[in-house]
Amino acid sequence: MSDLENVIIVGSGPAAYTAALYASRANLKPLVIEGEFDPEHHPDLPGGQLMVTTDVENYPGFPGGITGPDLMEQFRKQAERFGTRIHTAWIDRVDFSERPFSLFSGEKQWKARAVILATGAGANWLGIDSETELRKTGTVSACATCDGALPHFRGKHLAVVGGGDSAVEEATFLTKFASKVSLIHRREKLRASKIMQDRAFKNDKIDIQWNSQVVEVLDVAQKKVTGLRLADTVSNEERTFDCDGLFLAIGHTPNTSFVKGPIKRDDAGYVLVERGTSTSVEGVFAAGDCVDHTYRQAITAAGMGCMAAIDTERWLETQE
Ligand code: NAP
Repeated sequence: MSDLENVIIVGSGPAAYTAALYASRANLKPLVIEGEFDPEHHPDLPGGQLMVTTDVENYPGFPGGITGPDLMEQFRKQAERFGTRIHTAWIDRVDFSERPFSLFSGEKQWKARAVILATGAGANWLGIDSETELRKTGTVSACATCDGALPHFRGKHLAVVGGGDSAVEEATFLTKFASKVSLIHRREKLRASKIMQDRAFKNDKIDIQWNSQVVEVLDVAQKKVTGLRLADTVSNEERTFDCDGLFLAIGHTPNTSFVKGPIKRDDAGYVLVERGTSTSVEGVFAAGDCVDHTYRQAITAAGMGCMAAIDTERWLETQE
């Protein structure tokens, strides 16, 4: 077991590193525990969703834009500059029933006077068997930025499922490599913001398959994507749609299952907070996408991370 920490921050995205920056500048010597990459069990990269975002054009202070990974590198460096320590481990269990709090990764245990949860959210999958099987072949992915440039996708016809900003962003990005990109959307209207929709409509390489739901990814027997079986969501008719690769962009689920029980969450798993960033357990705070299903922006996550650090500092002072 490690020494007693003032504050452990679980996570590695904008909320976590902003909390770490503020907590370290408040002399709390925070320990950040960033998730360990494991392709099978928790395939998200440390650094959060910005690690799979191409261009961030709306983070204030970067008028020319910045890539997601570069922005995360800056966040991390700034937190480290003031003494933040970073440990890589997957926290799978907590004991918040008594203070100091305990966090576990397998047999490893950490103790902290206060905890900030900033674990973000992970990509959703359709959950159909053929998708699960073909993920193993690398021809089905939930990250265009990570995988789009791979040789087996170059010059090919790729499909992207979803109708939100992520789907349009991924489709637009994939046109750099693919011969054609088809957006597969289950409704007749995109959810994406107007500016993103315009980008998709203006791009000659993108077409949209409206009212279409993937019922099977073909072809498990050939061990690669050769097409999709699509159901028309209005007529229920099924058709085969040829393509050479599949990308999912159908939203995210908060990474909060490890605090299920002690921490109150909503039905979708987002941590419930009140009075700023306080959770249902006194001394445990939460920030960023594990809390917020409304704004979900790097800047709002960073803002909440700052709030969580200030709330933690003030709460620790009351405990002395
Ligand atoms: P989202 O806005 O929740 O969109 C998810 C999309 O996936 C929706 O179109 C939804 O369909 C579809 N979907 C969900 N489950 C599905 C299923 N089982 N089968 C088929 N389709 C399914 O998620 P997001 O696009 O990841 O965006 C999340 C947040 O990040 C948003 O606030 C967004 O604005 C923001 N974001 C911003 C940028 C940017 O500004 N550059 C980039 C990416 C994300 P329905 O429409 O029918 O519900």
